[in-house]
Amino acid sequence: MYANFLCVHRLLTEELCLSFETKGRGATFAFSVYHHKNGGIPIPGLVRHAILFPRAMIVLLVLCLVGMLTTARGFRGAASLGGIVSRRYQSSVSAFNNGLSDYSLSEAPAVKVGASTALSFRGDLLVVPFYKPSVSEASEEASAEEQDAALSAGLKSLIPDGLDADVKSMIGEIVESGLFKGDVKATYVTKVFGSGSVKSLALVGLGPNPKKDGPATDLEVKSANRLGEAIMRLSKDTKSRSVGVVAPTGIANAGLTQVFLGMTDGHYADTRYKKVPPGGFPVHPMVDLTILGVSSAVEKDVAVTYSLTKMIGSGVDFARDLVGAPSNSKTPLVIADLARKIASDHNIECTVLGQAECEELGMGAYLGVQQGSKFPPQFVHLAYKPEGGATKKIALVGKGLTFDSGGYNLKAGAGSMIELMKFDMGGCAAVLGTAKAIAQLRPKNVEVHFITALCENMINEEAMRPGDILRASNGKTIEVLNTDAEGRLTLADALVYADKIEGVDTIVDLATLTGACIVGLGDKLAGLYSPDDSLLQELTSAAKRADEGIWGMPLPVEYKEMIKGSLGDLKNIGGRAGGSITAALFLQEFVDPKTKWAHIDMAGPVWDNGTSKPTGYGVKLLVDFLLNAK
Ligand SMILES: [Zn+2]
Repeated sequence: MYANFLCVHRLLTEELCLSFETKGRGATFAFSVYHHKNGGIPIPGLVRHAILFPRAMIVLLVLCLVGMLTTARGFRGAASLGGIVSRRYQSSVSAFNNGLSDYSLSEAPAVKVGASTALSFRGDLLVVPFYKPSVSEASEEASAEEQDAALSAGLKSLIPDGLDADVKSMIGEIVESGLFKGDVKATYVTKVFGSGSVKSLALVGLGPNPKKDGPATDLEVKSANRLGEAIMRLSKDTKSRSVGVVAPTGIANAGLTQVFLGMTDGHYADTRYKKVPPGGFPVHPMVDLTILGVSSAVEKDVAVTYSLTKMIGSGVDFARDLVGAPSNSKTPLVIADLARKIASDHNIECTVLGQAECEELGMGAYLGVQQGSKFPPQFVHLAYKPEGGATKKIALVGKGLTFDSGGYNLKAGAGSMIELMKFDMGGCAAVLGTAKAIAQLRPKNVEVHFITALCENMINEEAMRPGDILRASNGKTIEVLNTDAEGRLTLADALVYADKIEGVDTIVDLATLTGACIVGLGDKLAGLYSPDDSLLQELTSAAKRADEGIWGMPLPVEYKEMIKGSLGDLKNIGGRAGGSITAALFLQEFVDPKTKWAHIDMAGPVWDNGTSKPTGYGVKLLVDFLLNAK
């Protein structure tokens, strides 16, 4: 028996490779047997083993027979035994992936939202937000105690008049005690005993009042987002089902939208890959939310405001889910299926091109990147076309590297972030998340195309080599001087494709493109490039309204020298200096100068390093941009 084991072990490790494919939950599996060197069946080896270790061969043949008989797919196993072995998976959704092939989306809690012009509230939790009162010039000279007293008095004067008497006196005591000062993100929570109108009371600090103390509208957005996050956190902490929130004074529908968007940030938790505990994962307790003290106009609109915000939120969550998913659960085929599902769920058009179609279109740059992966490329194109026609046609292109090993220029050593390269499809996630939101919002007059060239950058004997020359679909040739600068190669063909869509006059691409952009702008700001000042301005304003960090960057013509090829037309890297800029200049080579084009390098803000969570960056910004497109 030991000899048999040794033999099988040797068969498996030395001479034969036995590969199992599993599909979904089903018990289907198949074998393919092939020689690890030659890619064919090692007949001499088999014969030798059959003579030397007959019992081991019987075990192996029985295993193969089980594989063949279990499913029709087993015949592939039989074909493999006959020597026809493809090392490339034709249907890679079924590739072995530790049972993670059942891709799912995290779920937002179902909350019934209402509003009231009154402040009176009976329920489990009352949330009262406070801006921090500004300390006047004179009081800066005062002692700490005097300043605290001034702050308490200031906060006391901000307690809304219409609150129930018991609540009002409680808040008065809290701010007098100095336990709550209204600082950004500060919260004070207390349980209310007895038979009062509420069971818990929470004060939330919003920081300085943007209307009084800050000129910037982004402060208003930020404080509204913060309030939304706090609502979800505090209701969870206090296990409250019914929650009332005093609205910041004078809040309009736009401000309330930001509070609701903050709530989507506050609830996000990814439990998809954990073992389900007995009784399931805990559900967020809040079922009822009432916004108190709003104008009658806001009260009337609140249901619509909330349902529109949920549509945007579903896109943001979709993007977060996609970016956060491990690469073995989101192969190009899986994401292409998700795109098809968006299209069928929300009634938009969907086209997916496979290897052959991409070859036909001459997408040599994109296909070059994909060569080393066992997963076939999937080029996804969703299209939203409004009823009654469009006056504006926009294409969004997202980089979709489901994993980036770097290729032969392998990401190695500290700081290479190879373990995080599942997020290299952040641009694709932003574009598909936006598709999900826009397909529900259905804006008038604007037609939107959502494009992503999905693939993996991996290594095998078919992978592209450093120094290879690729030909993109616009005919330009590219010297691949670094296989890790692959995103721009996939984008090159995607941009050419987008530019050819009839009537499209504006293209915005988003990509986790360069580490250089993180070095330059940190992880809270994306780099925004465009030769068109009006597009630059529109995107900057949209980003500001959506509270997504962005910074305008230059496209200096003289830097083009750095990406000029010697054997080919272009080279895919321009050196360390200005790495994010030369990447943008490279992309510009694949867009018609007559088309308005912008590039967003979002390598930094795709991931929150503080919480180690995906941010869903780009969806809110793109949705705002599209809804305001003229
Ligand atoms: Zn790369």
